Amino acid sequence: MKATERRPKQRPRAGEVRLEGQPVSPGVAIGYAAVAHEPAPPSVDMARRDCNPGHERTRLHDAIGRSVAQLGRLHDRLALLPEDGQVEIGSLLEVYRRMLGPSRLRRGIEARLEHGMLAEAAVMQETEALATHMLAPPGRPAPQGEDAVAARRRAGEFREIGRRLVRNLSGTPYRSFSALPDGAILVAEQLRPADAALIDPSRIAAVVTEEGGSTGHTAILLRALGIPAVLAAHGLLAQVRRRTRLVVDGVTGHVIIRPSSRTAAAARVDVAAYARERQMLGRLRRLPARLSSGEVLTLQANLEIPAELPMVAQSGAAGIGLLRSEFLFMNTDTLPDEDRQEAIYLPLIEAMAGDPVTIRVVDWGSEKNSDALSRVGIGHGGDVNPALGVRGIRLLLQHRTLLETQFAAILRAANAGPVRVLLPMVSGVGEVRAARDIYARIGRRLRRKGVEIPDPLPPLGIMIETPAAALMADVLAQEAEFLAIGTNDLTMYALAADRAAADVTALYDPLHPAVLRLLRMTADAGLRQRRPVSLCGELASDPLAVPLLVGLGVRSFSMHASAVPRVKRTIRAAAMDDCRRMACRALEATDGEEVRAMLTAYAHDLRHPGDG
Ligand code: PEP
Ligand code: MG
Repeated sequence: MKATERRPKQRPRAGEVRLEGQPVSPGVAIGYAAVAHEPAPPSVDMARRDCNPGHERTRLHDAIGRSVAQLGRLHDRLALLPEDGQVEIGSLLEVYRRMLGPSRLRRGIEARLEHGMLAEAAVMQETEALATHMLAPPGRPAPQGEDAVAARRRAGEFREIGRRLVRNLSGTPYRSFSALPDGAILVAEQLRPADAALIDPSRIAAVVTEEGGSTGHTAILLRALGIPAVLAAHGLLAQVRRRTRLVVDGVTGHVIIRPSSRTAAAARVDVAAYARERQMLGRLRRLPARLSSGEVLTLQANLEIPAELPMVAQSGAAGIGLLRSEFLFMNTDTLPDEDRQEAIYLPLIEAMAGDPVTIRVVDWGSEKNSDALSRVGIGHGGDVNPALGVRGIRLLLQHRTLLETQFAAILRAANAGPVRVLLPMVSGVGEVRAARDIYARIGRRLRRKGVEIPDPLPPLGIMIETPAAALMADVLAQEAEFLAIGTNDLTMYALAADRAAADVTALYDPLHPAVLRLLRMTADAGLRQRRPVSLCGELASDPLAVPLLVGLGVRSFSMHASAVPRVKRTIRAAAMDDCRRMACRALEATDGEEVRAMLTAYAHDLRHPGDG
């Protein structure tokens, strides 16, 4: 457990100093620092083994009671947060509450008390053991990519609940932000999600911390609260005191300490421009995604977890273009059955109020790993190269009950609104035919049982994310009712550059003409076979790339909800003729750099109203 200690006092340097941290929530702020130090944690005798287990159990139960009451008070504050903040912190509080219930954590702590340990020591050891287990599961490869992010988050949750219990056992106080002056910039060594939930966004201009990262709950919450924030600004606390003047840029990650009058004047211009931009992006929400030449496109949202749903509504997205159902299999020891899955899909479909929801059946394998699936013997079969092994539809066709359960749950929920079903990692027509047979059989079985499901069945589509699928898109389009291009994997497989490997990032370029030619083939095949084609890889959220993608023939895009307004702004300024011209040039370009230079020049020429 990382204890926060006060740093030894150093004399801050005079004059302007620039630090660089991780920008986690956009916006620019200028103001005075309010430094929130954390009370030192209690010192705990970890070696004692002579405590009375009964007495320590009672202390533990009292501390759990106090912790539950505190979480309840935090929950009561939820109504004061914006909608997406409510969802983020609400589900986090639920996780904490479950941990304090009859959980593995509680059983582990109580077992340690039987050995005469002090309750504080038992809590610290058990939460640290569980956190370490998350980060480095014994006998299994360490989690990678998105799994590593989820594991770090889960480890943080164990440590956080451990800290709360230890504070309640020892009566150590929490810090409070209620006394901070209006308009202050909150400066701290670190900020935990429960702390962030206590911040009143109307009173705090920005947040800067010395530690933290962009993918944790704190970052997500600060984004949801709309507070400009930079985390991991190393060297911050050695330089900043109470009322030190700061400029915080949550877009670039810059923190400017004691800005000169010229820097402060420039920052004030940025603050005003950012406020105008937010207003303008907000207005865009209700406007159509129409090119300046008149053609209307579709912008939808990708959803990783249901908690992101309110952001989808706020973004103005016209439905969910990709629901990655992997979340159902993460952080769980048991496979979600048909009822549980239906109960998750149903509110998502209802919330979209008539806009389509595209549910992709689980794309497991490659760099993704699941406790629930490994437990029943499904997962990496020792593939030499998991990205080229049994993943996506290949895995589902080997473990058909998994696919059958998911199809059945989706079909049961599909009466609530328009649904589309998507197959991942397709590389051949046989896979689509096999999956379609199962889909039809599950449909017949449900009808025989008297379950009401849509007739005809919801469209069954395929991801185009292998070069084979792109090259064969005209054939595959005869078997699938829609095509969704996954540029994340398509780029990886086309350029033989792992999407998660840092040493080949320079080679991993979705704007490489080789990738663009595959996109063009897919869009052409969709047009010829009259099948809708969408693009749901990260490239869809890049305003620079979208005019080119339109020129290549893509008319529907799905991206993280937060990207929708900016992409829409670019679309509304672009013209179809220009898009087509750029596509012709890009297909003849020699490399991605040449394409990027052309797109940058075009973006520069587009004038966005309100850009100033
Ligand atoms: C893709 O590969 O582009 C895609 C959308 O799927 P994922 O990122 O989930 O692999
Ligand atoms: Mg993919």
